[in-house]
Amino acid sequence: MGTRIDGKAVAASIKQQVAEEVSRLKTQGIQPGMAVVLVGDDPASRIYVNNKKKACVQTGIYSEEYVLPAETTQDELLALIAKLNADPKIHGILVQSPLPKHLDEKLVVEHIDPNKDVDAFHAYNVGKIMIGNFSFLPCTPAGIIELIRSTGVTIEGKNCVVVGRSNIVGKPMAMLLLHNNGTVTICHSRTQGLAEICRRADILVAAVGRPKFITADMVKPGAVVIDVGMDRDENGKLCGDVDFDAVEPIASYITPVPGGVGPMTIAMLMKNAVSAAKIQNGIAL
Ligand code: NAP
Repeated sequence: MGTRIDGKAVAASIKQQVAEEVSRLKTQGIQPGMAVVLVGDDPASRIYVNNKKKACVQTGIYSEEYVLPAETTQDELLALIAKLNADPKIHGILVQSPLPKHLDEKLVVEHIDPNKDVDAFHAYNVGKIMIGNFSFLPCTPAGIIELIRSTGVTIEGKNCVVVGRSNIVGKPMAMLLLHNNGTVTICHSRTQGLAEICRRADILVAAVGRPKFITADMVKPGAVVIDVGMDRDENGKLCGDVDFDAVEPIASYITPVPGGVGPMTIAMLMKNAVSAAKIQNGIAL
């Protein structure tokens, strides 16, 4: 039976480290601060924003919340970003996605000062991740690396398979596994022979967005299985991309949903906010 990786516990320990770092910075007169921008009233986004605000309070990070109406124009949103870019109290800017359809998410991200881009979505930061010289790591993939580390399993030399190639999860995940000397295969909706490729994985990361998509026959016995998915099953219950009940007996380690990858994303965001405050105050990371 696989061991469940306790994302809540690993995230709590990272938030504790962040809180200690924030206290140290405060003694130097630096108060890390973050702005969270929410446009519209998507209930899931509201929950994410609340969780991020809560994590700021837990770690001692100053936070400001901007809730804008769904009909906010592109110019109005960009004006707010410009104001936050110039605000010395704010070191990190997070614009909660998805944005309403009439707003250009890519354009908004490109207007965030790269030094305040705590999501690491700006092309400048993406490029730095690609060349391995990064200030911020994208929160979900970075959290997954920490979860794998927490198991004691080394990534170096392992066959790593990432299912999904989105800009926020799949691609940066593959890059971080590569930086850790894994041998990485990226799969997507056009991949042929997906089950066979997944079965070769020592470390399998599922970031597909389809409930229980990874079935037991796709998993190598003893694999580390990381489930990024936040899906709903046929009864509307939260579940992941992995058929947990069937895969848990085969895996060596597995993340549950909820309580696996999700809490790590927020913990790594707090870590990035502290890095941003250091960068903007000329302190080495
Ligand atoms: P996304 O942008 O929709 O990307 C999904 C990826 O899965 C795409 O690359 C797609 O391939 C691939 N895919 C879809 N159907 C497939 C199939 N039949 N076979 C193989 N690959 C297939 O999703 P995302 O933003 O990466 O998110 C993925 C999941 O993670 C979602 O459930 C999301 O809610 C969750 N998530 C969780 C967290 C967290 O903190 N826990 C953070 C972010 C996302 P193509 O590129 O070919 O279309």
